[in-house]
This record gives sequence, structure tokens and C-alpha cells, in this order.
Amino acid sequence: MRSYGANDSRLSLLFLDHGLGKRPAKGVVTLALCVTLAGCAIFQGIQVSLLSTEQEIELGQQVSAEVEKQENLLDNTEIQAYVREIGQRLASVSPRQDVKYTFKVIDAPDKVNAFALPGGFMYVYTGLMRVLENEAELAGVMAHEIAHVAGRHHGESMTRQFGYSLIMSIVLGEDPNALAKLGTELLGATGAMYYSRDNEREADQLGMKFLFETGYKPEAMLSVMQKLADEDRRRGGTRSLPIFASHPPTEERSQRLQELIEQYPKEVRDRQPVYAERYRQKVLDVLE
Ligand code: ZN
Repeated sequence: MRSYGANDSRLSLLFLDHGLGKRPAKGVVTLALCVTLAGCAIFQGIQVSLLSTEQEIELGQQVSAEVEKQENLLDNTEIQAYVREIGQRLASVSPRQDVKYTFKVIDAPDKVNAFALPGGFMYVYTGLMRVLENEAELAGVMAHEIAHVAGRHHGESMTRQFGYSLIMSIVLGEDPNALAKLGTELLGATGAMYYSRDNEREADQLGMKFLFETGYKPEAMLSVMQKLADEDRRRGGTRSLPIFASHPPTEERSQRLQELIEQYPKEVRDRQPVYAERYRQKVLDVLE
């Protein structure tokens, strides 16, 4: 369990301000407050989101505008549409439907990365797409990122990474410099979104569920990680890929992905496609 030293007093104040007078079950109080207030973390043993959905969307909108200012979107409507359709299929099985998921491709052949912002704004880099071999692998990465949104992981990770006050100043539109700073940190050479181990485990588990339910072979989630590790070795083996900053390819993670795969019936998995040919035609042949 994580606690937030710097924010604890502020959290207590928020809860005191709004929690006095009524005494329903503890969990109900916590969850109800989180709908309207920022700043919930570990409270009375229950882990909850640090941002309301509205705040998350506001933050995501601001940061996505900054991302699109700092990066070039790929100028290819077919590939953008292809990635968007894969994303929408995956997002349609997400239990979280109070955000509008969007999917865009950034043209940066050397950046092997993909990330989702709070509020469901996702970006995939052409550098990642080039090292993948089939549609299921791309869907695997995207499913994992959708799961971070569905699991409401951003409030916790971004507040921990950038600080509560910076995040709130962006949500409130108070400080354009804070937004630029966050954008630069997020998109820099070592930039990434840092999630907790628990959040990563949940994103793998939930992401694989989305992948399987959308009809892809769940093994793709493991093969993509191995492929990225190979690519990293090819580049010198220093875990230099941005995607590894937040998602290290550990032995434990491989083991766990394998265990997750085996939870799905083999006879169904064996029938589910990876769409290698379609991916080659729509993406690899075009990006060359
Ligand atoms: Zn992740």
C-alpha cells in the first residue's frame, strides 16, 4: 500500500471539510467524495482515484493539446483510421465508459513508445509500430494502455510523479508553464508515465482480458514484450526504449503474462488470429 506523505494533511482536510456530520459506511464516504473531489489516495485502507472523472478529462485535454504541440501526428489518414478502429474495438469492452477514448499515431520512427493520458487520450508512435509484427501485438500494447485508463491509474501515477499542486494547476488552467513542463518531461528522451507495480499488474491482467474479448490471441501481449526486449538489445541493450522506462521487461512480468495467458482456454486461444498479413499491408509496407 502506498501513502502520500506530502499530501496527507491536505487529504485529511478535504475529507474533514466534507465528511463531518454524516457517517455512512467508510467505503461509501470515500468513494462518494472521490466523485467530486481531487485528492483521494489510500484512505482507510481503500485505494481510490486521485482525480474526479471531470478533472481527469480536463487534465487529459490540456496535456493532449501540449503533446500535439510538441510531437508530429502521422500524416496518413488510413493508418490513423486503422489504429483508431483497433482502439475503439478494444475500448468497447472496457468497463469504464465515462470517458471518450481517442487514438492517434505520432510520427517518430525512433521512438518506441505508446501511452495513454488521463481521460482516455492515447498516442502510439510509429517507432513502436515498426518493430511489431502483427495487429494483435499492437492491440496488446493498446489494450494495456486502455486498462490504465479503465483502472483509473493516472490520478495516482501523475500526482506522484509531478506533484499534486502542479497537476491541479493544470486541471484549473492556472499555469501554462506547468503544462509545458509536464509535456516536456513526459515526451523527453527518458520521459514516461510511471505507474506503480500494482497498477502495472492490473493493466496487464485487464488489458489481456480486453485483448482476448476483442478476439485477438492473448499470447501477443507476451510476444510484444519479447520483441521490444530484442529491439532494445539491438540498440545496445541499455533498456533505452522509452516504453521500458515505465514497463520494464522483467522475468517476473513474463512469468505473470504466461500465467494470465493460461487462464484462457487453449482451444479458443489457438483459433484466435494475430492478423500478421493485414498488419504488414496496412502498416509495415506503408511506413517503410
Ligand atoms: Zn503500463
